[in-house]
Amino acid sequence: MKSHYRVVVVGGGIVGTSVLYHLAKRGWTDIALIERSELTAGSTWHAAAGFHVLNDDPNVAALQSYTIKLYAEIERESGQNVGMHMPGGYSLATTPARWEWLKAEAAIYETLGIGARLATAEEIVADCPIVDPTGLLGGLFDPHEGALDPHGTTHAFAGAAKKRGADVVLRNRVVALTALPDGGWRLDTEHGSVTAGHVVNAAGLWARRVGAMVGIDLPLTPMQHHYLITEDLPELVARRGEMPCVTDLEGFTYLQQERKGVLLGVYERNPKHWKTEGADWDYGMELLPEEIDRIGDELAIGFARFPSLQRIGIRKWVNGAFTFTPDGNPLVGPVPGLRNYWTACGCMSGFSQGGAIGLVLANWMVDGDPGADIFGMDVARYGSFASNDKYLRDMTAQFYARRFVIAYPNEELPAGRPLKMTPSYDAQKAAGARFGVVWGMETPQYFAPRRPDFVEEPSLRRSNAHPFVEAEVAATRTAAGLLDTGVYGRYEVSGPGSATWLERLLANRLPAVGKLRLAPMLAPSGKLMGDLTVARLAPDRFWLVGSYHLQQWHLRWFHDQLPGSGIAIENLSESWLGFSLSGPRSRDILARLTRADVSDAALPFLGCRRLDIGLTQAWVARLSLTGELGYEITVPASEQRALYDALLEHGTPLGMKPIGMRAQDSLRLEKGYGVWSLEFAQSYTAAMAGLDRFIAFDKGDFIGREAALAERDGGGPSQRLVLLAIDDAGADVTGFEPVWAGNRKVGFVTSGAYGHHVKQSLALAYLTRAITEAPAPVEVHVVGERRPARILAEPPYDPKGLKPRS
Ligand SMILES: Cc1cc2nc3c(=O)[nH]c(=O)nc-3n(C[C@H](O)[C@H](O)[C@H](O)COP(=O)(O)OP(=O)(O)OC[C@H]3O[C@@H](n4cnc5c(N)ncnc54)[C@H](O)[C@@H]3O)c2cc1C
Repeated sequence: MKSHYRVVVVGGGIVGTSVLYHLAKRGWTDIALIERSELTAGSTWHAAAGFHVLNDDPNVAALQSYTIKLYAEIERESGQNVGMHMPGGYSLATTPARWEWLKAEAAIYETLGIGARLATAEEIVADCPIVDPTGLLGGLFDPHEGALDPHGTTHAFAGAAKKRGADVVLRNRVVALTALPDGGWRLDTEHGSVTAGHVVNAAGLWARRVGAMVGIDLPLTPMQHHYLITEDLPELVARRGEMPCVTDLEGFTYLQQERKGVLLGVYERNPKHWKTEGADWDYGMELLPEEIDRIGDELAIGFARFPSLQRIGIRKWVNGAFTFTPDGNPLVGPVPGLRNYWTACGCMSGFSQGGAIGLVLANWMVDGDPGADIFGMDVARYGSFASNDKYLRDMTAQFYARRFVIAYPNEELPAGRPLKMTPSYDAQKAAGARFGVVWGMETPQYFAPRRPDFVEEPSLRRSNAHPFVEAEVAATRTAAGLLDTGVYGRYEVSGPGSATWLERLLANRLPAVGKLRLAPMLAPSGKLMGDLTVARLAPDRFWLVGSYHLQQWHLRWFHDQLPGSGIAIENLSESWLGFSLSGPRSRDILARLTRADVSDAALPFLGCRRLDIGLTQAWVARLSLTGELGYEITVPASEQRALYDALLEHGTPLGMKPIGMRAQDSLRLEKGYGVWSLEFAQSYTAAMAGLDRFIAFDKGDFIGREAALAERDGGGPSQRLVLLAIDDAGADVTGFEPVWAGNRKVGFVTSGAYGHHVKQSLALAYLTRAITEAPAPVEVHVVGERRPARILAEPPYDPKGLKPRS
């Protein structure tokens, strides 16, 4: 061990060794990995080490695909056998709902070009003779499913990194971490101290403890997991070649061939946490005692689906622990608020994701950019609320127990709720609100007035809540709709340097005092970092408004770009709340609540003013996401309930209704407006998203200008966001469905909804430039079925944009 390294990776499991390898590959060779015990000594050594591409987040699926392709490379580079088998794998459908879901999933994997395909029940049984066909309707075949030798794979990453110059230090625990004034770290280890420019926490089962060393509480917890390995099965002894893996989604089990027997793993419905605070420091390479009674129900289903298992012995039981986060994805990237402290932990699927984690983290450290949209894995996607003990345990238990359960787009799950509520929560609930949750915040999805007994069916198609949403859309288009904006992120930027700094941070020109502007925020690569609304309250005082769930992510970005003193950034997201009031009667409603002049002349489109609204002291900004005349009214959090009551009192007689996010989606799609996470994300440039019209190229330098100019002057992006009208099939698209022109895949959907006012199923989609320039009929997969669609030259509602300006 040297006395100083550019990077020290703490932890030598599959993830830490991959980080080390990728850093070395990027040319950073003054690096080391320090391991408490032996390589693999955490979860890694006893993993079933299966891998697959399929994931609910298509960006994560693409990265898993990278991981799998990497194994041959590290084997070659290191000379270490990784023991890879890739016979492919079937996910079984044994209910009509599951079969429909798999068909829809198959279409989404076509978008990614992964090559997964649907298979008939007969094909599955012919390929996997130990599968009992009872109730089997078909399945999805992923050719990239298989398993590895966990020991060999970890050593291959480490060996390849060492060949490129990295150090691997074994049997030496890191016991303390101290931040140094130069931004680096001192690591005290059992065998002396070492300094490092950067530290990576890849401590797996101990990651929470290694986080605590620097005062952070990471939202992850180990949980127990069982698998068993059988004696040889006659069917497999007789067979040539390896049987594909099988996941019985309704049965909560997965199975892979292990020599001439099988490995059967269980995701039980009654999961169990283990050492939530992190494993003990002296935890060795030991198995936990098996708890067969706890997993008995799922095992019984597994033994019925694979009946040959009833006739042979079990060679080995494994009960081990690995880490889970509330959404099951890892925690990767620079930790907000700390300098040069990175995480690569919380990974429940190291053999599908380890390679990708190493890649993006190395890119991020070397280039300052992960090189892909990895928000779904970013450590900054959570706030501190997610580390609360009960929240974490409830969410991870829910995730684990539902690992194979169908996730419906209209389904709201109960764990960790209600946690954050706006002061109007109870009143909205009493009015029939059905809530979803964004970053812990309860947010109305729709209102079922006077129907306390109403229960929405989870569905891939339009649900029984459809008529409620229709009524909210109608109210907004004819009178007014009132939407709780508790899910907005709000920041105040002030101080003498604020205007100069914001001119550099944002791609649009800053507004004049009393005005708003929409402003894309770009990375140096030209990719989007935000779609903010900027309000100028005073010459040196601004509000930036974005998405609530991006708070940590945005604040990290803001602080990374700060030049020094003279600028204060305050996060107002929890302390200021409000409502969006929109619709043709919204000005009349506002006028009833204030003596101020709210005429078009006094408060024009994209204007903002401090007004007394009822009893509240509000900032009122004139804009809407519904395409109507509208106002966003923001007040101190403690006044939000008074605002709600006043708006209801004066709005209801004019036909105003409280509305939820579903109505907002329908309304915004009728206007072709995108939103962050769906249409706007790190994968897209402003020109792709149509946000380049909000770029002021001539205002001087700003972050991302060079890349945006190069794109513009190079002829523009190869894909563009367009609005599609789809032939109605009683269902709407949700996202990532492929779009076809004949047999050519020409793009994919980002979001969709039924346009209740225009009576049309609508979608936003990224399509190739060629098809957008010469629009031709296209087809879109809707719940696995191809439906005719056409590209709309202009939005179907108010194409000239007169309503918001009225
Ligand atoms: C029973 C079971 C079955 C599984 N099946 C699969 C599967 O089929 N497919 C799949 O992809 N995944 C599977 N997993 C999960 C997989 O094992 C994990 O995703 C993966 O091993 C996580 O790797 P890691 O490097 O993040 O953590 P770990 O393997 O836990 O490694 C962390 C390392 O950090 C070291 N360390 C911790 N603290 C310090 C310190 N202070 N100083 C120095 N070193 C330290 C530890 O000693 C350890 O070696 C399974 C796991 C189990 C237990």
